Amino acid sequence: MAAYPDLFESSPGWLSHTLTNATTDLPKIETTLPDGTLIGRESVGVLYLTPPAGRANPNQEALIVSAGIHGNETAPIEVLTALVSELLNGEWQLACPLLLILGNPPAMVAGERFLDANLNRLFNGAHRRPEYDGLPEAARAQLLEDTCRQFAMAHPKALSHYDLHTAIRPSHREKFALYPFVEGRQVPEAQCDFLLEAEVETLLLQHKAGTTFSSFSSSVLGTESFTVELGKVRPFGMNDLRSFEGIKKALRRRFCGGASPAKQPPFNHLTVFEVVHEILNTGKNFRFHIPDDVANFTEYPQGTVIWEDDGTCYRVELSPQAIVFPNRDVPVGQRVGLMIRAQ
Ligand SMILES: [Zn+2]
Repeated sequence: MAAYPDLFESSPGWLSHTLTNATTDLPKIETTLPDGTLIGRESVGVLYLTPPAGRANPNQEALIVSAGIHGNETAPIEVLTALVSELLNGEWQLACPLLLILGNPPAMVAGERFLDANLNRLFNGAHRRPEYDGLPEAARAQLLEDTCRQFAMAHPKALSHYDLHTAIRPSHREKFALYPFVEGRQVPEAQCDFLLEAEVETLLLQHKAGTTFSSFSSSVLGTESFTVELGKVRPFGMNDLRSFEGIKKALRRRFCGGASPAKQPPFNHLTVFEVVHEILNTGKNFRFHIPDDVANFTEYPQGTVIWEDDGTCYRVELSPQAIVFPNRDVPVGQRVGLMIRAQ
């Protein structure tokens, strides 16, 4: 396949090229597939793809899909790079413009979540804060913001962004998506259907804007964005890829411009959670009563004391609440966890 040497030099594919060149500053290059699809390598781990002029885009959309924002979250990286190989091998034709991103190549090489700073806290301009000055991850966040901005300017309508992750912590709900907070926004029905198609049965509506990649794209670029947690972290080659078939098939269908399939049991009901309380380390003799190793979405009945300090005692009220992202080891003023409730 002629596109391989152009795009990936001597590497057999996108993943190995990205790992081999993780810290190299490569020039931008473009090449064309035999069917006329344009593929550009914007930088290491960043590809943009444009179908030939005149080809139908039945869903009239453009997509940004990112993986490896945390370098050790390998399964989504394997899913995305496998889809690129399928396209380059001519297994299907692209219907819509795509921007595909492997977020943190040096951390992928190291098999680490990040090297100097958590890349998924550096968006929405946070990379400009003085404490991140000079860090490669701050430069990468800036590059990804700029690249997404250019792509969104070229494709302003019906743009979606899926930022794919896997989790370190166990979860009672294996796959779940986070919908970044944007004032007054409702989740479109078609996006809920897509999550179910990808076998993601749980959606958590966030309650304030943050510094994640998906929060940046939704609040600054106006995309329909989701952070999608797809299961457990494992090293490259150790993933049970059957468990990621849902997202792979669903993305492939979108890339090809296929129609949304009918909902199939058991993936026919999306449970939507909302945040009812943000637990902050108050510093005033703060005591957190949740064990360190508790799984995400662990439910607590009415009356359970979740945290206390010298002035406050937070109990679960009315209906059961569940906890996500518990982490007691945070500085005063920072988030210890979120209490959530099914809508
Ligand atoms: Zn992650």
